[in-house]
Amino acid sequence: MKLSRPHEECGIFGIHGHPEAANLTYLGLYALQHRGQESCGIVSSDGNTLYAHKRMGLVADVFGNQEIFKKLPGRSAIGHVRYSTAGASVEKNVQPIMVDYSRGSIAVAHNGNLVNAQLLKAELEAYGSIFQTTMDTEIIIHLLAVARTNSLVDRIVEALNRIKGAYCLLFLTETRMIAVRDPNGFRPLCLGKLGNSWVIASESCALDLIEAQFVREIEPGEMVVCTKEGDIKSLFPFKKIEPTPCIFEFVYFARPDSYIFGKNVYMARKELGRQLAREYKVDADVVIAVPDSGVPAAMGYAEESGVPFELGLIRNHYVGRTFIEPAQSIRHFGVKIKLNPVREILKDKRVVVIDDSIVRGTTSRKIVKMVRNAGAKAVHMLISSPPTSYPCYYGIDTPNRKELISSSHTVEEIRRYITADTLGYLSEEGLVGSIGVGNTNFCKACFAGEYPVAFPKPAQQPQMGLFEEEYKEND
Ligand code: AMP
Repeated sequence: MKLSRPHEECGIFGIHGHPEAANLTYLGLYALQHRGQESCGIVSSDGNTLYAHKRMGLVADVFGNQEIFKKLPGRSAIGHVRYSTAGASVEKNVQPIMVDYSRGSIAVAHNGNLVNAQLLKAELEAYGSIFQTTMDTEIIIHLLAVARTNSLVDRIVEALNRIKGAYCLLFLTETRMIAVRDPNGFRPLCLGKLGNSWVIASESCALDLIEAQFVREIEPGEMVVCTKEGDIKSLFPFKKIEPTPCIFEFVYFARPDSYIFGKNVYMARKELGRQLAREYKVDADVVIAVPDSGVPAAMGYAEESGVPFELGLIRNHYVGRTFIEPAQSIRHFGVKIKLNPVREILKDKRVVVIDDSIVRGTTSRKIVKMVRNAGAKAVHMLISSPPTSYPCYYGIDTPNRKELISSSHTVEEIRRYITADTLGYLSEEGLVGSIGVGNTNFCKACFAGEYPVAFPKPAQQPQMGLFEEEYKEND
């Protein structure tokens, strides 16, 4: 059985020591739904036994019936939302994973991706391990089970010392909840408090919803053990390295109301827009955003440039992210389902359109066409990040390198493909300077191709001419 491709976007949430643990976890997952829309699950503990409910589907659908919570008793719970590529989109891969082993029961929820998963899996199978899922997360469980150390904390450390890549993990046993953030700190993870209960969440927006107080971020390489007695212990059991948090969380992935890596995402995105205005001075009548992710940057652009911001594209909020549709044909259609132009705003105008990123180019191409069809005189597409030329191996769902348009096309070629009058990307210096979190050395692998944790398989080479069939100017 092959492991799923390293493409997962996830959110995790856990609460320890609260009578409404499963209900609050449901709310936490609701707030983290943007991090994964394919499946979700909750495991709770009543102090003696673990209970699970997990399914394919959105949080509101999977947990839409109050009866479910009667089957999730106890004062501790962890939960997970997940999105993965089509191949691994199956019930058995829904998290948290829960197992019984020689020491009792344990559940784990994982956000991120391991880069040495195939190697470890082959090794474990050679020693007789039988895998139930195709997720790399299961490897952690197997490593735990075969660890030679005694205490659970030591076993987790022993297991994690063997894995490489990105992980924010939540473990739940009958009596404890344990959170771990990898030494690179790729993905965000924060600690909160609700009364006397400890809360752990991928993003602070989940704490806000349940009115928990934000305590601090879990540090890169930190393990937080929430004990039976209700205390927490902080450990740093791994070799210290320079952290490399993911800059794309700021660009696109995290929710704007969250605070990650010490900064509010909305303010960071707005600054990206301001910087974009400094880098591209365009004669324009109006600035619009590709909603929702382009909105803060468009507002920043408008503030800095003096060009007025308008809502030129209206989004239907009841449609999922176009990006997650599996077939290209659906994605093409999807942009129209999701967005509609406001003609009054666009007619006879020179329009600056701001989006956060271009992946395959499909969305931008449709949007330029849409804005032009609504009567715009000129369409200037500005992107609040550098070209996304390399796949992510650490937990952001980006396609293969060959599907990333900027891996094989120049900016001018992409401009012609999307049929814009101007196409401008934010510079790498502009991106890093605008985010400006101290001297943080962000992971910029998707832009720069430098991978902070080496992966065993070389990235696929770009295939030139991928878009040739469609590559006609102004069609
Ligand atoms: P594309 O049509 O493939 O160029 O996709 C571009 C759109 O996808 C942009 O509007 C981005 O906001 C969005 N996007 C970028 N990265 C991701 C991602 N990892 N998951 C989902 N959507 C994304």
